[in-house]
Amino acid sequence: MLAIDLGGTQIRAAHVAADLTVSCRHAVPTDSASGVEDVVERLCALASEALTAARVEGLEAPIGIGISAPGPLDPWAGVVVSPPNLAAWHNVPLARLVSARLGLPTFLERDTNVAVMAEWRFGAAQGARTVVYVTISTGIGGGIVIDARPLIGLDGTAGEVGHLTVDIDGPLCGDGQRGHAEAIGSGIAIRRDGMALLEQGASPTLAALVSDPQQLSARDVADAADSGDAACAAIYERAYIAVGAMCAGLVNLLNPEVIVLGGSIAEHRPRLHVVVGREIAERSFPRPAARVRLEHARFSDDVSLIGALPIVNERIADPAYRRASA
Ligand SMILES: [Zn+2]
Repeated sequence: MLAIDLGGTQIRAAHVAADLTVSCRHAVPTDSASGVEDVVERLCALASEALTAARVEGLEAPIGIGISAPGPLDPWAGVVVSPPNLAAWHNVPLARLVSARLGLPTFLERDTNVAVMAEWRFGAAQGARTVVYVTISTGIGGGIVIDARPLIGLDGTAGEVGHLTVDIDGPLCGDGQRGHAEAIGSGIAIRRDGMALLEQGASPTLAALVSDPQQLSARDVADAADSGDAACAAIYERAYIAVGAMCAGLVNLLNPEVIVLGGSIAEHRPRLHVVVGREIAERSFPRPAARVRLEHARFSDDVSLIGALPIVNERIADPAYRRASA
């Protein structure tokens, strides 16, 4: 199977074997400012290179192509609708364009739904019937499996856990709404709160780390917190509590067997698990709170490549998903 990961900064393509070996990796910058046609052209060229490399190496011939892309998108028609981090992309029939160019059935799915497929079929949530996958990095995304079926939703937007409201009077989210979990718990939110500390002169540690406030990252706030800065530690603690409150609500709503925490912030901050576990114990109904397992994501950066494997395998015979390649 050929996997393509269309991200905001990079496009990656790779061959993924049935035993999950990822090989023939190719990557180019997304450079979305160059225009939709140019990005699609480079994506197709990259996929073609990976296919050729796989053939040369004698790997199993791909039966299809799975593309992970930012939402919102239409997984049935294979259309990228209007992702905030891909400027000028509006209703681009990406699966059809790729399929026409490469001659293979092509399937498109939101990056976080691809990730939950990887973790559910092969990773930290393998064998579970109800799963919530949460990724915490620049934003907060998610994917849900209920009773052993991926929850896609009528518009393909189900599982966007980061946009649950955890504080009705809270800070503004990127979508203009107030108090979403992403507006408090994400990398963007941590950076925003770190910048406020710098402007107030409230963190000498952070000021010593960063000379230009515009260059500040969530990682700088983490470094300052780790070196004992109480104000920066408080920003992270509040972010974790927001994620914990969000997860506690999901435990009450869905009674999941596993919650998988992934993404750059979850990977590097073990305390996140402690706080999320505590918030679930305090805020959720006792029985589902006691049942749910919190797991670290098994797959790191390759989650969007590996998850494309079950997307292709499980949709290739499903007429609902064949419109793009018909
Ligand atoms: Zn939001």
